[in-house]
Amino acid sequence: MKDQNEILLENEKAFKSLFEHATISILVTDENGDINLVNPNAEKLFGYTKEELSGKPIELLIPENLREIHRQHRQHYFQAPKARPMGLGKDLFARDKNGRTFPVEISLGYYKLGAQKMAVAFITDVSERKKAEAILRASEETTRLIMNSALDAIICIDSNGCITVWNPQAEQIFGWKEEEVKGRRLSETIVPQQHREAHEAGLKRYLNTREQSVLNKLIEITALHRNGKEFPIELTIIPMRQNDTDFFCAFIRDITDRREAEVRQKEYAEDLKRKNIELEQFAYVASHDLQEPLRTVSGFVELLKRHYKHEADENVTKYINYITDASDRMRRLVQDLLDYSRLGRERILEPIDCNQVVQQVLSDLTMAVQESHAVINIDMLPTISGYATEMKQLFQNLISNSLKFRKPGEPPVINISVMPKDDHWQFKISDNGIGIDEKYWERIFIIFQRLHTKNEYEGTGIGLAHCKKIAELHNGRIWVDSVVGEGSTFYFTIKKRFTDKWK
Ligand code: ADP
Repeated sequence: MKDQNEILLENEKAFKSLFEHATISILVTDENGDINLVNPNAEKLFGYTKEELSGKPIELLIPENLREIHRQHRQHYFQAPKARPMGLGKDLFARDKNGRTFPVEISLGYYKLGAQKMAVAFITDVSERKKAEAILRASEETTRLIMNSALDAIICIDSNGCITVWNPQAEQIFGWKEEEVKGRRLSETIVPQQHREAHEAGLKRYLNTREQSVLNKLIEITALHRNGKEFPIELTIIPMRQNDTDFFCAFIRDITDRREAEVRQKEYAEDLKRKNIELEQFAYVASHDLQEPLRTVSGFVELLKRHYKHEADENVTKYINYITDASDRMRRLVQDLLDYSRLGRERILEPIDCNQVVQQVLSDLTMAVQESHAVINIDMLPTISGYATEMKQLFQNLISNSLKFRKPGEPPVINISVMPKDDHWQFKISDNGIGIDEKYWERIFIIFQRLHTKNEYEGTGIGLAHCKKIAELHNGRIWVDSVVGEGSTFYFTIKKRFTDKWK
């Protein structure tokens, strides 16, 4: 059996070892606030040796501005000392030998040493924890900001399908306030009746098998507003897992306006297509029917000419010639109109080697090329899918215009090139001709619009209207860029793969 003294001695040894090895910093002061004992952890924390601290007032380890208030607290503590945390609810700070101030948590205890009351402070440096808390607070604040300012409704549900997150945009789209829906089943709030079973089954399936058929994808579906109205939405559901708990976040956008716009646009496009077909038919019928009376006029003028060959005076001959010229010109216009309305009709799509097309066009234009001493540079061109006759006409019109509208006394230089632009080919035909004033850049593509009289340059003003219609037939467009006196560059695009208008 150990005697009382032995037990006391062993206890003292044990406490001493605890004091020496404790991972918390321990300081003992007397009633005057003078430091009596310092454990190694406290030496490390404050950067002083125990000899440097021994007998010094505890306020040495407190930031200067807090020393006076600490002194008062300390005196107050000794009036009724008891074990308790220090400065409850307040932030406490300590100061080390280098003057660094850092946040601490302190527990106080006390004991008696003879007649003396001694206070024990257990001190923990909480700098790292405070930093982590600040980072966490900042990230929570950022998340809250993102949620509140997101354009999408953000809704999260737990693995039971109950709503846990409902941002302001969700409130706006669905009409429910956060406090009204939080904790309620999603399927009973915004999922329309006909989708409820699938929603519940999908949730169960994912939790059992992790099958993700509708997750992480953009889906278009309908949702239910608080007022019972169903409306189209676009949503992505992302499965998440945190601390072994599954939950799901959905990002939702109301697409009612977009859908309505799509319907309007479709109606508009169909209307436009119908009107275009009507117009083409009208142009076709009109130009076709105009040919008959025109032929009659020309025929009778011919008769008149022959009949009065010897009798007609100078004026009559002049007037008859005017009528002949005018009816010839009208016949050409009517024929152009007829050709225009026939463009692309009942043609079939076929592969077209544009290099061959350009060569054919140049061979047809040999005379004009030679006469004008034109220099024509052609890049390697692609094989496209298109309407052969129309494509030839397109190149023919643009190249012959470049030859026709050349600067007097200067041989034309024409460059033909192409580059891919997304799902189109962009062709470019440039010349060094007379150029076109910017104010006419749109007008020249309108049927029968010309910038010159027929005496200056031959033509009816239909060529570029043809080009425009042909580019559009190939799901492309045409435009011009030009500097007066320097030249013009015509661009047109052809869709690489397009659906045949007539199929
Ligand atoms: P046309 O050649 O029968 O006049 P187009 O429709 O082909 O009819 O051209 C319309 C007008 O555009 C022309 O009258 C001309 O003023 C202008 N134009 C067309 N191509 C060129 C060009 N390469 N250089 C300058 N002007 C041009």
